[in-house]
Amino acid sequence: MKKIMKMPKIKFKKFNPKIKEECAVFGISNTEDAATLTALGLHALQHRGQEGCGIVSFDGTKYHSEKRFGLVGDNFNDEKIFKNLPGKYSIGHNRYSTTGGTALRNVQPFFADTNSGGIGVAHNGNLTNAITLRNKMVKDGSIFYTTSDTETIVKLIAKSKRSKTIDKVIDALFQIQGGYALVMMTQNTLIGVRDPYGIRPLVIGKLKNSYVFTSETCALDIIGAKFIREVDNGEIVYVENDELKSIKPFPPKKIRPCVFEYIYFSRPDSILNGKTAYEYRKNFGAQLAREEELDGDLVVPVPDSGNAAALGYAEEKGMKFDLGLIRNHYVGRTFIEPSQQIRSLGVKLKLNPNVSVIKNKKIILVDDSLVRGTTSFKIVKMLYDSGAKEVHVRIASPEIKFPDFYGVDTPTKKELLAANKSIEEICKFISAKSLKFLSLNGLYVAMGFEKRNDAYPQLTDHHFTGDYPVKVIDELGGDKVTQLSLLSTASNN
Ligand code: AMP
Repeated sequence: MKKIMKMPKIKFKKFNPKIKEECAVFGISNTEDAATLTALGLHALQHRGQEGCGIVSFDGTKYHSEKRFGLVGDNFNDEKIFKNLPGKYSIGHNRYSTTGGTALRNVQPFFADTNSGGIGVAHNGNLTNAITLRNKMVKDGSIFYTTSDTETIVKLIAKSKRSKTIDKVIDALFQIQGGYALVMMTQNTLIGVRDPYGIRPLVIGKLKNSYVFTSETCALDIIGAKFIREVDNGEIVYVENDELKSIKPFPPKKIRPCVFEYIYFSRPDSILNGKTAYEYRKNFGAQLAREEELDGDLVVPVPDSGNAAALGYAEEKGMKFDLGLIRNHYVGRTFIEPSQQIRSLGVKLKLNPNVSVIKNKKIILVDDSLVRGTTSFKIVKMLYDSGAKEVHVRIASPEIKFPDFYGVDTPTKKELLAANKSIEEICKFISAKSLKFLSLNGLYVAMGFEKRNDAYPQLTDHHFTGDYPVKVIDELGGDKVTQLSLLSTASNN
């Protein structure tokens, strides 16, 4: 009998998007040198993402696109590249480093042709139902080119049956959920969108007759644009014929911006709700100092993330502030390195003890937050190795116990130190003499609120409370988005 050849089992690769972006967006309308101004804006927003950067411009007839890995200044730095980006409209994006999906095709802005013309999209944040939507579209025959949730938005816009682009955008927005700030460009229209809770930031600026939509005000400052206002939560703003227009298509909700913009992400000089991030951070430090009796020889910041909080702490206590750690500015943020091993190596590369300052001193070491504990673990050891007498760690935000799904790169619950250990256990783990976190209510007080409104919190603060304003549709029982795509489901069959 003829032997039947056994068909090799086709193994589909698991689609694990690891969507962890916490990026920067920038867009400018109707100006000479639009792409150059976009590059400058992205340069000011470099802290929000260092993996890749891209610019899409529109010259009145055609769209042009340049995308690169790495930093803005290393890539958008000569006449040649800007010659490839002609036109008076431009949008740009900085991408945050993720462990997966590092292909250039994942670098934004994305671009699509629709039956009412092309559209470029730059996106900051995470959708909480992107995989569910994507799976549905794949089932209906859509082909996805990238592993980014932004492509889902682009596809939804392109698929809309509405005729006007702005209506197509609204159509798409009604289907997506999560935390997002979008800057889009369709021919001669610049569009900005902020999610219904205003979780991710977006601001409006003006430069002569042009408008700018971008993640932070520091990107306006760099090009000399005037800050007009923040985009409201759930608001769509767009510029048509040099006129700023606004639509609020969603049922009204109270704004709940992400607390981490205040604690960590935003550049200290950026304005959030009327104050600079620097002022908030100093207040967090001062509030932390008010919450306890502790004396020491000096307050040392973890540079640069703990600088403002440490200053606030020292000022409040009337204690000496000194730089006990010196930072190498040519190493990126510790957190963005993909593996734990490299991450801890990164801390060593980035910081070195300033022995003359710390020897025989009782040090109060202040940082903005503690996530995995890698930074504190390394630094406390470093300070003791350099002769510090006592190291007391103070964290100017509460314990992070819950992961994020709206665009903040926090690890899974398993990796979050405070989700798994008590304060005493963490203190022991990092070998500090004592450890204290800012209280949750103290955080709200430091921001100018009387207290946290538990019925309707003023901030998106699930990192500390587990109170998620937008449900995570894509979640499959785990504590991080783990849903598989149709492809991986196929491989299981
Ligand atoms: P870890 O070393 O894991 O405890 O992380 C804490 C350090 O990472 C602090 O110095 C923070 O400034 C910084 N950090 C906190 N949140 C983030 C984030 N989402 N992305 C990158 N860095 C962060």
